Amino acid sequence: MKIKVFQKGFNYSQDGPGNRLVYHLQGCNMSCPWCANPEGMAHEGCLLVKTQHLIDDICPRGAIRQKAIDREICNGCHLRECISLHKTKGIRLSYQTYEIDELVDEARRSSALFYDGGGVTLSGGEATLQFEAVCALLKGLKEADIHTAIETNGSHPKLGTLFPLIDLLIMDFKHYDSEIHESKTGIGNAVIRTNLMQALGDHPNVLIRIPLIKGFNDAKEDAKHFAAFFKQYDTSHASFEFLPYHEYGMAKWEQCGMAYRMHDAYVDTKTIMFYEELFSESNLSVIHT
Ligand code: SF4
Repeated sequence: MKIKVFQKGFNYSQDGPGNRLVYHLQGCNMSCPWCANPEGMAHEGCLLVKTQHLIDDICPRGAIRQKAIDREICNGCHLRECISLHKTKGIRLSYQTYEIDELVDEARRSSALFYDGGGVTLSGGEATLQFEAVCALLKGLKEADIHTAIETNGSHPKLGTLFPLIDLLIMDFKHYDSEIHESKTGIGNAVIRTNLMQALGDHPNVLIRIPLIKGFNDAKEDAKHFAAFFKQYDTSHASFEFLPYHEYGMAKWEQCGMAYRMHDAYVDTKTIMFYEELFSESNLSVIHT
């Protein structure tokens, strides 16, 4: 079985405990305009282009002229000779395909580097979209006795069936209101709420992450609604983290041929502190990674 990965590498403590091998899996069912990994959105992948390094000769269809690319021509191109026949810094496909066994072997060989409680984290894109492959990969990792974590937007209806294979479940919850959630991400939050409830009831180790975006969820009333939502449940196995907006992915939007639509979305320190204090006062455990 094969799996599409658009980025892989080690990261310390930000994607679960310790030093971790993180696989970013291609494809997402949301379209958040603040996404830091836009190259991971399209299921079929995307062409990342650095125009300053483009060379006209590498395209037999004339899509590249004077360091500009006509993506209309590329959309109908399946051979992609610019990539299959040439190796340049100017253009690449966002993902590579691997066999599941290859990744399990890689993780096994890397296990000496999993210090401080590390292991493997599956991230995205939205990792669960390649559901069968993710299931097989997690099984292989567990058989190899490797600590597993998944970073998910929580929207897959069968997410709960993966719980026995996941040591740490990291779930986003972007907005408590389904309509507002849909207005920015493209989908409502009904399934996410159901999965959150199930996770809080059934999973022993849950980290819930709330991205803080100005104009989307940074009002005091928003913080109160979020806290009120979680206070309904047993959160004794859960912790919470706030992820303030940043612009790290902006350059990649351009490389993918997409317009970056976020402007003035930074939240101030007072907003972050208000969220953290309110959650702590509500007995919701706040952490920083
Ligand atoms: S994807 Fe196809 S059309 Fe586009 S630059 Fe590459 S070879 Fe040319």
